[in-house]
Amino acid sequence: MQPEMIATTRAYIGLGSNLNNPYKQIKQALSALKTIPKTEFISHSSLYQSTPMGPQDQPNYINAAAILETTLDANTLLTHLQSIENQQGRERNGDHWGARTLDLDLLIYGEIQQKNIKLTLPHPGLHLRNFVLTPLNEIAPNLEIPGLGNLQKIINNISADGLQILEKAP
Ligand code: ATP
Ligand code: CA
Ligand code: CA
Repeated sequence: MQPEMIATTRAYIGLGSNLNNPYKQIKQALSALKTIPKTEFISHSSLYQSTPMGPQDQPNYINAAAILETTLDANTLLTHLQSIENQQGRERNGDHWGARTLDLDLLIYGEIQQKNIKLTLPHPGLHLRNFVLTPLNEIAPNLEIPGLGNLQKIINNISADGLQILEKAP
C-alpha cells in the first residue's frame, strides 16, 4: 500500500508577554513551540519591546513572531497554543487586551480565510499592529497575507511608534 501524503501547512504565530519576566516567558514559549506534535519549528524573529495597546496602565510588552510547518489542522494547532499559554500561567479574566504572561496568536494558517469567534484567520488585528507586522516582516518579507495582500505594502502604512528591537535573532 502507498503511504498517504499528508499536506503540510505553513503557520505564523505572534507571541506577546508583559507579566512575570516577559523576556523569560517569550524564550520559554519559543522552546515550547518546538515541542508541538506533528509540527516543525522553522524560524523566529528578533525580540521587540512595544508599548501596550488598549489599557495603558500595564507594563510594556515583549513581542516576536515564529514560523511553523504543521500537519495539524488550524483548530488543533490553536488548542496547542492555548495549552502553552496555560502552562505559562495565562489567566483569562475577561479583560480585553489586559496584562498577560503569554499570548500566542495564530496569525496566518496557510491560505485559510475564515471568520468565527473561536478562530478568525488571518488574525483580525494583524494588519493594524506594528508589533506583529515588524517581526513578521523580518522572518517572511515577501509574505502575501490571505485576503490582505503584500506585507510590504501593509507595513508601509503603519507607524513604528513605541516599537524597538530588544534582542536580535541569531
Ligand atoms: P486579540 O485577539 O485582539 O489579539 P487577545 O489576544 O488578548 O486579543 P485572547 O483573550 O487571547 O485575545 O483570545 C480571545 C479568543 O480569541 C480566544 O478564545 C480564541 O478562541 C479567539 N481567537 C480567534 N481568532 C484567533 C486567532 N487567529 N488566534 C488566536 N486566538 C483567536
Ligand atoms: Ca493577541
Ligand atoms: Ca490571543
